[in-house]
Amino acid sequence: GALGGPEPGPQHRIRVCVRKRPLNPREAGLQDFDVVTVPCWGVVVVHEARQRLDLSRYLESQTFRFDHAFDESAPNELVYRHTAQPLVESVFRGGMATCFAYGQTGSGKTYTMVGDLSAKGQGCPKGIYTLVAQDVFCWVREPSYQQLELQVYGAFFEIYGGKVYDLLNWRNRLKVLEDGKQQIQVVGLQEEEVSCVEDVMKLIEMGNRCRTSGQTSANTHSSRSHAIFQIILRKRGKLHGKFSLIDLAGNERGADTGSADRRTRLEGAEINKSLLALKECIRALGRNKAHTPFRASKLTQVLRDSFIGENSCTCMIATISPGMRSCEHTLNTLRYANRVK
Ligand code: ADP
Ligand code: MG
Repeated sequence: GALGGPEPGPQHRIRVCVRKRPLNPREAGLQDFDVVTVPCWGVVVVHEARQRLDLSRYLESQTFRFDHAFDESAPNELVYRHTAQPLVESVFRGGMATCFAYGQTGSGKTYTMVGDLSAKGQGCPKGIYTLVAQDVFCWVREPSYQQLELQVYGAFFEIYGGKVYDLLNWRNRLKVLEDGKQQIQVVGLQEEEVSCVEDVMKLIEMGNRCRTSGQTSANTHSSRSHAIFQIILRKRGKLHGKFSLIDLAGNERGADTGSADRRTRLEGAEINKSLLALKECIRALGRNKAHTPFRASKLTQVLRDSFIGENSCTCMIATISPGMRSCEHTLNTLRYANRVK
C-alpha cells in the first residue's frame, strides 16, 4: 500500500540520497551551466570542465553512487517516498528516526524539508515536514496503532552558534543537560499537541516566522543555523517514538573559519565541528555505538537518542546545485555524503 515499505533491518538503517535542483534563471543569466547528470538509479556524475570557457566539452568527470539520486525533475513527493517515508512506521514501532538535509546554501535544503517558501509559494509544494505529518496521522488511525492511543506532539528549535533556541516560544534560549544516566534533556522545550496536519502546518509556519524575525538578514541567519523539527509520539505521557527532521546550516559556512570577522569565524568553526560530529555519529550508527561521539557538538548531543537507540534509522538527503560555479561545493557535499554511507 501507499504507506508500506520494508522493515528497516540493520543494513537499512542509513540511507543516503542526493537531490539535484534545477538551474535557476539567475544562474542562466550569469552564463552558468549544468554540470551534473543523474544517468541512472543512484548515480551522480559531476562533469568538471578544466577551463571555465570550454562550454562544449567535459574533460573530467567524477562518479558517485548512493541509495538514490534524484535529478531536477523529481518532485518533493518522490524524494519523500524514497527517503523519510519508509521511516515513519519505525517511529510507530517505538523507534527514533532522523532525516537530514545537507548541502550548500541555495541548493534546496529548505525547499526539500519545509517546502517552497518563496514569495507566492508559502510552503507549497509541500516539504518533508508536512509529508511526514500527513503519514503520521494516517498511521495513528490504523487499527493496530489506534489501540495504543498515542498522542502526537510537535517541537521546533534551532541551533545557532552552538546555542539552542525554541522556535515555538519566541526564541527562548534553552539549556541542554545530561543526567547521570546519560539521558539528554533540552530543558523547557515547548511541545505542542497536534491532532491533524493543519495543526502541524501552523507550527511550522509559526516556527519559521520565529526563526527569522528580528534577524538583520533572514537568509544569512538560516544558512548559519540548524533547524530541527520533531514529531513526537507519546503513550500516556511517556515517550514512544520520535521523528527528527533537520534543515542543516549551509555546509559552505564551515569554511568561514578563516573570516576576518570574529563572530563569523566562531560560527563557522561551530558549524564545521557539528557537521564533522554528525558524520561520525551517523557512521557509528551502522557500526560501533560505543564510539558514537555525540558529545562533540550541540547538534549531535540533542540528537543522542537518534544515534544510540536500538531502533534508530537515519536518512540523509544531500542537496546539490547544478551549476559549474558551484562545482567545488557540490563535490564537497558529495564527498561528505559518500563518507556517511
Ligand atoms: P537552501 O535552504 O539549501 O539554502 P533553498 O531551499 O532556499 O536552499 O533553495 C534555493 C532556491 O532554489 C529557492 O528559491 C528554492 O525555491 C529553489 N529550489 C530549490 N530546490 C528546488 C527544486 N528542487 N525545484 C525547484 N526550485 C528549487
Ligand atoms: Mg534554507
